[in-house]
Amino acid sequence: MRETRRNIAVLGSTGSIGRQTLDIIAEYPDMFNAWLLVARSSADLLIQQARQFRPHMVIIADEQYYEYVRDALEDTDIEVATGSSTIAQAVTAPEVDTVVTAMVGYSGLESTIAAIGAGKRIALANKETLVVAGELIDRLLKDSKSVLYPVDSEHGAFYQCLVGERMQDVEKLWLTASGGPFRTFPKEKLATVTAADALKHPNWSMGAKITIDSATMMNKGFEMIEARWLFGILPRDIEIVVHPQSIIHSMVAFKDGSVKAQLGLPDMHLPIRYALGLPDCRLASDCRKMTIEDMATLTMERPDREKFPLLDTAYRAAHLGGTAPCVMNAANEIAVAAFLQDKIRFTDIYRIIEKTMEQMPHVESPTYDDYVTSNDEARARALSLIRD
Ligand code: MG
Repeated sequence: MRETRRNIAVLGSTGSIGRQTLDIIAEYPDMFNAWLLVARSSADLLIQQARQFRPHMVIIADEQYYEYVRDALEDTDIEVATGSSTIAQAVTAPEVDTVVTAMVGYSGLESTIAAIGAGKRIALANKETLVVAGELIDRLLKDSKSVLYPVDSEHGAFYQCLVGERMQDVEKLWLTASGGPFRTFPKEKLATVTAADALKHPNWSMGAKITIDSATMMNKGFEMIEARWLFGILPRDIEIVVHPQSIIHSMVAFKDGSVKAQLGLPDMHLPIRYALGLPDCRLASDCRKMTIEDMATLTMERPDREKFPLLDTAYRAAHLGGTAPCVMNAANEIAVAAFLQDKIRFTDIYRIIEKTMEQMPHVESPTYDDYVTSNDEARARALSLIRD
């Protein structure tokens, strides 16, 4: 057992992963302390969390809520700040031990890079960081004592299957996917589904953006790229397999013909608990445990790549490398936001991503500034395609 509590910075504390991370921190008060909480704009929930967890500091990224949060916490000694550059600075504070990156999309990149620069332990929930800038993050990690622990359930599964193994013995990673709400839905009818239909995920309760990404299976494409960087494996050695029950969280196939799988209930608290316990221990919990009934029927099937073309788009982007995955991510963020606002059809999400990728210039071995420029330009391009 560690002598001192780990101080945790929770970036995106009011989102789905952030709230569940705080559940885990509350479950083990002798081991963890919420030191910094960061939210984009959910001011009331941030205030409530601050009162409960008494962090050293809270940051509300959207400046228009700054005074509201500051005034609400005036009677406490909690420091209140605002602005996105403040986040990147705050995570480097010497008191911070672990940074949980649970913000949505591209917005996680700057602070993750800052945390790597400061050699922090990172529990990575923001997969877009590795999708957008995996090449750069990979280079930065080589010169840093920082370690990335995956929070994503599939990557937590790979990590657990790989404990005690050598990467040269791995033949391939089998990345499991639930298939989302439209797995058995006729392809021809996908054009008419609504945001409400797409938000009904069969197994996982998650934020709106990732739920739509699951419905298009873009999420699985992102996770393939995430696995590529986390485990240093080529995209062609990662195969996606649809497993509708979401009990097997992923599998590793070895060169001797053996396959290891990791199982668990579909509850994000489990991978968060595992990531926060690393590298010391598994955190014992009173959570609901799996029964024979939970694993009585486990099925596997191949993904329908015609119905879910973004799987191939993701492999193509991963193969191209450079800024291609960054452009794909930017177009996806814009398209998903437009779909959630009923501005485009479900199948337009594919079209906008494909068109944006076609039209954007490609940059090899990008610097941080190249990613920033590509992201900005791809967003503008995607927006103009939506207006057409
Ligand atoms: Mg996942």
